[in-house]
Amino acid sequence: MGVREGFGEIYGTAPEGVWAAPGRVNLIGEYTDFNEGFVMPLALPHTAVAAVSRRTDGVLRLHSADIEGPVVELHVDELQPLTDTSWAAYPAGVVWVLREAGHPITGADVHLSSTVPTGAGLSSSAALEVVVALALNDLYELGLTGPELARIAQRAENDFVGVPCGIMDQMASACATDGHALHLDCRDLSIRQIPFDLASQGLTLLVVDSRVKHALGDGAYAERREGCEEGARQLGVSHLRDVAYEELDAALARLSDERVRRYVRHVVSDDHRVDQVIRLLDAGEVRAIGPVLTEGHVSLRDDLRISCPELDLVVDTANAAGALGARMTGGGFGGSAIVLVEASDTDTITKAIEEAFAAAGYTAPRVFPAVPSAGARRLS
Ligand code: ADP
Ligand code: MG
Repeated sequence: MGVREGFGEIYGTAPEGVWAAPGRVNLIGEYTDFNEGFVMPLALPHTAVAAVSRRTDGVLRLHSADIEGPVVELHVDELQPLTDTSWAAYPAGVVWVLREAGHPITGADVHLSSTVPTGAGLSSSAALEVVVALALNDLYELGLTGPELARIAQRAENDFVGVPCGIMDQMASACATDGHALHLDCRDLSIRQIPFDLASQGLTLLVVDSRVKHALGDGAYAERREGCEEGARQLGVSHLRDVAYEELDAALARLSDERVRRYVRHVVSDDHRVDQVIRLLDAGEVRAIGPVLTEGHVSLRDDLRISCPELDLVVDTANAAGALGARMTGGGFGGSAIVLVEASDTDTITKAIEEAFAAAGYTAPRVFPAVPSAGARRLS
């Protein structure tokens, strides 16, 4: 059953409209967003889809087809940040942020469903926030732009849900376009749509969901963030984005702490890898981005230290089996990796990864192609 029909069954009326917002994978540029650097995500064909109607009585009703349980009923005047630990905090957070910003949201009925795998590092949470933000923007005629909606969604996750994420996921979901990767400057949110048509080149980008999420990741994000801020402080810049790659060695020599030095080296070199990938894509040398992806993985593994045995196994196995390059993607400690392959090698490389996981006693991974897809949009 589609969300339009589901909405009718739950609320007894037709929704005013239906919207979709995608999950994403990041091609290159990891842990660079909160350093005001560069990232390059692409939207997946997997989307959160929401059927939504306005209300005038202050009531906010939320229902997910993917979650067991009754309709969650809240009141827009009584939303309290950091109190709700359920899924409903994501859409409720968007309403709270909009109202805090002075937008007159007087209630809504929401019924949603998502094909973005949760907890796989593919940003099911951003898809949820962005789809609700876009629906309310359209219904309440707020006139907000894609980047503005992304900021609102990020604030909902940071301040209402309590997850300290950067801006990449929400920007990808709000602003990506079909057939492109999104080159995003996380300082001013300026974007450039980079044509990323792998199929015409005989290439495929695979997503490998490792099916694990290590608890270690919980405090690690905040710790890396703190370490990066410490590095910026010691180097006398506002953010690590301001350390030029050409001056990296000199900058590293000025840092006393081995841990901070590793984090700075990762961030500055990954910003540089985004540049490299852009240059190669602009020059039509798509295959040449493979080794850059693998260098990014080594940096995440050895300098930032956010990989895990399962993700390392994907990358090592894929590369040994003839992939052009591979890296973990997203927050780390589990989640997904991406693998660039000749399309004709897809089956053999997928099989090699599956066999390696079986031999290691790991849960079978989920493998699918990352087809660059459209960002958030109204469906009907
Ligand atoms: P990721 O964003 O990497 O998928 P997160 O932990 O950030 O992982 O977000 C996952 C959370 O988002 C879920 O635990 C749930 O609360 C919420 N969520 C995602 N998809 C849905 C859905 N279809 N229905 C309800 N809640 C969802
Ligand atoms: Mg998330």
